[in-house]
Amino acid sequence: MAATAEQKYAFNKLQKRIRRETGKAIEQFGMIEAGDKIMVCLSGGKDSYTLLDTLLYLQRVAPIQFELVAVNLDQKQPGFPEHVLPEYLKDLGVAYEIVEEDTYSIVKDKIPEGKTTCSLCSRLRRGILYKTAKRLGATKIALGHHRDDMIETLFLNMFHGGKLKSMPPKLVSDNGEHVVIRPLAFCREKDIARYADAMAFPIIPCNLCGSQENLQRKHIKQMLNDWDKRFPGRIESLFTAMQNVTPSHLADASLFDFKAVEATGVADENGDTAFDAPPFTETKKGPQSDPVNTIKITQIA
Ligand code: SF4
Repeated sequence: MAATAEQKYAFNKLQKRIRRETGKAIEQFGMIEAGDKIMVCLSGGKDSYTLLDTLLYLQRVAPIQFELVAVNLDQKQPGFPEHVLPEYLKDLGVAYEIVEEDTYSIVKDKIPEGKTTCSLCSRLRRGILYKTAKRLGATKIALGHHRDDMIETLFLNMFHGGKLKSMPPKLVSDNGEHVVIRPLAFCREKDIARYADAMAFPIIPCNLCGSQENLQRKHIKQMLNDWDKRFPGRIESLFTAMQNVTPSHLADASLFDFKAVEATGVADENGDTAFDAPPFTETKKGPQSDPVNTIKITQIA
């Protein structure tokens, strides 16, 4: 059935928003420079398809030249549909490479049945992708993580790692050799899901390895989704907060020299109002209190 005018309008708006937000992140964090060769990691999930699609568009309209090469790692999970990505990428006319490495057998061999396999699997995958980037002469590695992945990671680190730390939009790889970028850093997962659906990307399911989804991440996702429904604007505010950090108002002495704090004797109208109520209000739907906070956090702990 052909799309209605209303559906086309909604799709164009969505596409424009994803492209605009990706462009903004690229610009704001200095992700792409003229002459870059960007290795786009393509897993076959909605996020990486959206990433490649959007980067291809930006490559066409950007005032600078950069190259893109899509890379998929075939980890030899049983049932992996090997033909899907090569067919899609050939049709798209983009340079690509499928790297075949049986990390599935290594992981199954090393991790006892019933234990989570993701950390070893990701470590192996990371090593292979770095090696591939080096071989291809890629100057940047692009990953499809989005805004909601970054917020979830922030909470995971706070709840389970005792750290105020998320997933950066741009970083140097742990082996020091590569710059990793996350151009979808400003995009909402909801938008990406709708876009992937409308574009009918040939999604490859991510549960082929049979591993359980990380339960802690799942709980945090539920908590955030619930907040999003009941307190419109809270997630947006959280993400804005991640870009608006005041080390002098946290408690990390390595980021701010608290020992050097002294009274200046000079009034400052932008100075601290240590005893005032916080200057924000939140839109609330439902009851005044927020029992979900307590319930979810207790369940997760
Ligand atoms: S879900 Fe499976 S493929 Fe993905 S990281 Fe975990 S073990 Fe690896």
